[in-house]
Amino acid sequence: MTLTELHDRAAQLSGSLVRDRRQLHQHPELSGQETGTARYIYDRLLSLGLEPRLLLDDRSVVADIGDALGGGHPLLLRADIDALPIFERGEQRPYRSLVDGVMHACGHDAHVAVALGVAELLVQLRGQLAGMVRLAFQPAEETAGGAGRMIEAGVLHGPEIEGALGLHIWSGVAAGTVGVRSGAIFASADEFAILITGRGGHGALPHQALDPVPIASMVVLALQTLISRETSPFQSAVVTIGKIEGGQAFNVIPETVSLVGTVRAFTREDRDRLLRRVGEVASGIAGTFGATATMERRAGCPPVISDPAMAELVRSAVLASPGVDLVEPEPLTVGDDMALFLESVPGCYFLLGGGNQQAGITAPHHHPEFDLDEGCLPVGVEVMTRAALEFCRNGAAGTTVAE
Ligand SMILES: [Zn+2]
Ligand SMILES: [Zn+2]
Repeated sequence: MTLTELHDRAAQLSGSLVRDRRQLHQHPELSGQETGTARYIYDRLLSLGLEPRLLLDDRSVVADIGDALGGGHPLLLRADIDALPIFERGEQRPYRSLVDGVMHACGHDAHVAVALGVAELLVQLRGQLAGMVRLAFQPAEETAGGAGRMIEAGVLHGPEIEGALGLHIWSGVAAGTVGVRSGAIFASADEFAILITGRGGHGALPHQALDPVPIASMVVLALQTLISRETSPFQSAVVTIGKIEGGQAFNVIPETVSLVGTVRAFTREDRDRLLRRVGEVASGIAGTFGATATMERRAGCPPVISDPAMAELVRSAVLASPGVDLVEPEPLTVGDDMALFLESVPGCYFLLGGGNQQAGITAPHHHPEFDLDEGCLPVGVEVMTRAALEFCRNGAAGTTVAE
């Protein structure tokens, strides 16, 4: 098969890619409720002659293409499918969300459309597929719960999956461009909550109370020194307190103040250290004043780290795709539970450019005006299909890594 043949086949799918994307965009479902989306994917895969399976209470779909026993290198392609609690703006869009307050504002509708397009091409090219490709449609990415549950459900086994690929549409990168980076591309993302407990009292008699408000204030400021004084100047990390709650009235000292925040880091070591130190700093400061602080870790996931050989595989696929530009993006401090797949098997998560300055498609992800240039959809299909065919044939070993 020539380079342009696969390019042409991907381009011929443009119409159905847009239809899939718009259908999903109009019917978004929140994390944990993706049964309609999963049913749509299931039916589409069935119509391609595949034998999809529903998992996780019918919110996830898995389908295998190619012969699991025929040798080659089994590969997992992951696409996340959930939407966000955002009220979509843009009355003029014919494909605007039909569900008030729910919107595909992260572009996961495009992830599904691209994965369905890859499925269609791989079915067409089955004779050239040297191994098995498992398509994994994952719910609950935005709440960081879906990837772990899919792994627990066994999607990386039977046969043993050797590599994983996924893409995230990115509005900050122009359509027609693909961003590949070896190493960390997305940060870890963890939520934590701190409860500082003092002793309430009259606002005019602070000496008879133990005021948690100034203690909480000191904790907020001290936490920033975990970045400025304890993290290497050559490493990036973030600690943000996004929510403070405490007190009811101007003249009452409250009993407790709660702080809720997030830690972002690009190495597992920084992530673990920062989360540990947040708790230590809070209880150390509280203890100095005779109060207590307890810290609770909530949902989170590790940094998204692409394997160098797998990143090289995707780079080669981009360079083989006519008219597609390759860039190396800076790491992003957002998170994605694709991280868990990449912790289990070598893989690459890359950015599919979806922005278009001239057309005014510039809104960031998770914004009520978020949109994408649908011209990027066949680009995603082409690059992903090329990478999948190559991986199934040679694994990641066939690529030369220039690091
Ligand atoms: Zn998102
Ligand atoms: Zn996303």
